[in-house]
Amino acid sequence: MVRLPEPTPVPPNVHINGTSSHSEEDENASKERFSVPALQLQIQDLKHPGATRFLNAVNATDSLTTGTLNLLKLLYRKPSDAETTVPPTSSVTLILENFPGVAYTVGSGADNNVKEIHFSLPYIAQINPSRIAEEIDGVITHELVHCFQYNGHGAAPGGLIEGIADWVRLHCNLSPPHWKQEVTENWDAGYQHTAYFLEFLEQRFGRGTVRRINEKLRGSKYHERDFWMELFGQEVEELFTEYTQSLQ
Ligand SMILES: [Zn+2]
Repeated sequence: MVRLPEPTPVPPNVHINGTSSHSEEDENASKERFSVPALQLQIQDLKHPGATRFLNAVNATDSLTTGTLNLLKLLYRKPSDAETTVPPTSSVTLILENFPGVAYTVGSGADNNVKEIHFSLPYIAQINPSRIAEEIDGVITHELVHCFQYNGHGAAPGGLIEGIADWVRLHCNLSPPHWKQEVTENWDAGYQHTAYFLEFLEQRFGRGTVRRINEKLRGSKYHERDFWMELFGQEVEELFTEYTQSLQ
């Protein structure tokens, strides 16, 4: 899910290196290409101003393909990676329709492998024209993460799931201008708040940390204390305290 942005635009004060880098490992990974599932586009109301703006701003095939490949690289590194398992998502349908809010993703089919991303036409209609393509791609990338991420057998906090989706969006250089690092009360406040905390962990424990978090959400049911202790030897509250101290 993507919620409505907060009203005050503040420039982000964190620098993210993006998805590209030049290590030998990456060069090997880039030779392999993840397979992209079947992609579909449905537009419920072609006369809606949001539909016209969407079609003028982006190429849906490119947006869905690029978003999928970017998130797969960040969460699964390469197709033959022995340490991760890409979920067997069989298709993604992007549905532009008239509803309040921004976007949400649902799964269906035998193994929940058939995904639908619902994207709000009224939301698209009101995006600032100067950054419409970036915002559409940012929302699509966030929702695509939900099509390919794990959730600790349904037990992970929603804030962690949303944080991983926005961490990917951050690393694709698609973060909206109102995002900023700020102290929040809880590590699982979600969205960009948890995304910046995850980025702190990625920098502190090394590249691939969020990938390890996602992989652990596949392997076992989420139990908060065990989950973080087994990954980092520390409780999440302790890590979060370090993070908030680093902001001061
Ligand atoms: Zn979401």
